[in-house]
Amino acid sequence: MNKKQKRTRNRILLAIALFVVAYAIAELLPLAAWFGSQTTALWVEFALFLVPYLIAGYDVLLRAAKNIGHGQVFDENFLMSVATIGAFALVLFPDSDPHMAEGAAVMLFYQVGELFQSYAVGKSRKSIADMMDIAPEFANVERDGQLVRVDPYEVAAGDEIVVKPGERVPLDGVVVSGASQLDTAALTGESVPREVQAGDEIISGCVNLTGLIAVRVTKPYGQSTVARILELVENAAEKKAKTENFITRFARYYTPAVVGIAVLLAVIPPLLFGQSWSDWVQRGLIFLVVSCPCALVISVPLSFFGGIGGASRLGILVKGSNYLETLSHAETVVFDKTGTLTDGSFNVVAVHPNADIDAQRLLSIAAHAEAYSNHPIALSVKQAYSGPIDQQRIDEVEERSGHGVQARIDEHVVLVGNDKLMSSCGIDFHDCELTGTILHVSLDGEYIGHIVIADVVKPDAAEAMAALRAAGVKKTVMLTGDRADVAAAVATELDIDEYRAQLLPQDKVTEVEKLLEATHAAGSGKGKLAFVGDGINDAPVLTRADIGIAMGAMGSDAAIEAADVVLMDDKPSNIARAIHIARKTMGIVWQNIVFALGVKLLVLVLAAVGVANMWLAVFADVGVAVIAILNAMRAMNVHK
Ligand code: ADP
Ligand code: MG
Repeated sequence: MNKKQKRTRNRILLAIALFVVAYAIAELLPLAAWFGSQTTALWVEFALFLVPYLIAGYDVLLRAAKNIGHGQVFDENFLMSVATIGAFALVLFPDSDPHMAEGAAVMLFYQVGELFQSYAVGKSRKSIADMMDIAPEFANVERDGQLVRVDPYEVAAGDEIVVKPGERVPLDGVVVSGASQLDTAALTGESVPREVQAGDEIISGCVNLTGLIAVRVTKPYGQSTVARILELVENAAEKKAKTENFITRFARYYTPAVVGIAVLLAVIPPLLFGQSWSDWVQRGLIFLVVSCPCALVISVPLSFFGGIGGASRLGILVKGSNYLETLSHAETVVFDKTGTLTDGSFNVVAVHPNADIDAQRLLSIAAHAEAYSNHPIALSVKQAYSGPIDQQRIDEVEERSGHGVQARIDEHVVLVGNDKLMSSCGIDFHDCELTGTILHVSLDGEYIGHIVIADVVKPDAAEAMAALRAAGVKKTVMLTGDRADVAAAVATELDIDEYRAQLLPQDKVTEVEKLLEATHAAGSGKGKLAFVGDGINDAPVLTRADIGIAMGAMGSDAAIEAADVVLMDDKPSNIARAIHIARKTMGIVWQNIVFALGVKLLVLVLAAVGVANMWLAVFADVGVAVIAILNAMRAMNVHK
């Protein structure tokens, strides 16, 4: 509890104590005899209950008055004020039972409920904040031989920083010296520390556990992992789910409608049918108390909030509650292959040069042509070629997505890529008997051989497919720009329902559009399509799908921008977990809607026919809100 909540709690406790005293005096002492008149005794009781009432509820009354001043009349402050003032006002009807005790109690319970609510919201906010407590405060840089702390914003790409044990890594970069273990739990949910040494890339937000490391910064703070995550989380609240918007709109019409009905209920029977005023005014008041929609207005966003918070504890960033809602209906999941299902670090399996060139030279030419590419294939070729890359020799580089690259090296035109690239440039190439991704290389239009590379599937990819099926996903599809035999091998290994190979980036969009149509047409029409990619050549598809899921750690910035859900640890098995969380959250949301509306409707009917009393009304309002909030908080609990 924070200070303000503690103060409210103490105020409520004081009000409850005074309420008990007032109740005891009213029930136990012979007030009428003491004051000599029934009426005087009644006004004494009135005064006794007014004290705890005002202590507990003065702020509600003030807010209601302020809102009326602003022209926003119908909110729960208004409902509570009218209902409780009304209960006290019944003292003016000589033929009715007095209801001061109920009036004060309604306010007390309401405030208890409110306190509870603010505690619950604060708690879920805090758990998100804790998890998001990744913003670094400073970076250590060397100035004039001294290590000084500067704002991470002041550090530029290319600068060197020092991260001491126990400190948070402030910026993304590459380790230049030292070795250590990093705690990445806040980012990926992964609890096993990661070993790093010189040459390894590290991301901001991790905590350096053991050793001193020097890091060369690769991105300014504004583009760092931490800054991007914080931005995503901050914006998440703005993207509301349909259900959430519905509840807001619902409350906007519902509250005035209920006030109208309450007035009619209080006025019509006495006016037209000569019924007792006090009886019907009381029914109208009960009706008002019951009808307060706060259980819904609070518990629904809280559930979504909890779901998003729970997911991020597993390293799954959901950019808004609308995406959680869509994800819960996922029926078709489409995957990109390279970097998504496979880990994207290719091994060179074989180098097959043509007769008049040697293997090392073939590899060197390919590595130079790929020098500027960030495609996983390019990175792997550069790694396999251990020699130095001389930037001076490279010129006119052009990357053709889905095909390969073209570059001018030492004044020779070099092409490195797949059959498509070779055919489109009219180069006479020949195939290889090995299974794998084949990189053909040509020099000045002359075929000079190929490099065979193979990628391995991620360790949890097969498990991910099984988990998706268990989660109720009806169809899994793999789309790839790679060769059909490689695609077939991966699809069989992972037990994927369908695959399409040799696709260019634009073909992937077309395929996804076809699959979208099929998914939307199937069954109840509610099914949705999720696309999972790493963003290398598939950012357009991420936006086209009902929901785009990107691999965050190794994915490109474009993918993280374009995606709706980001998996920080690149594990495909987290997709099924995300779907589970989404389903659970939606389940909780609907339970709350049905439960709250159901109980309220029942008590409203009882109030209208005169069976319900104020106490029941209080339960229907505050009790339901508390239960709904408790239920909503379950959305935050996720299993690792
Ligand atoms: P995937 O759909 O499997 O993620 P991409 O669409 O990124 O694959 O690439 C499809 C194919 O295009 C690759 O299998 C490769 O043959 C070729 N290719 C793409 N980029 C490059 C590159 N930089 N160098 C060589 N070949 C490339
Ligand atoms: Mg890819």
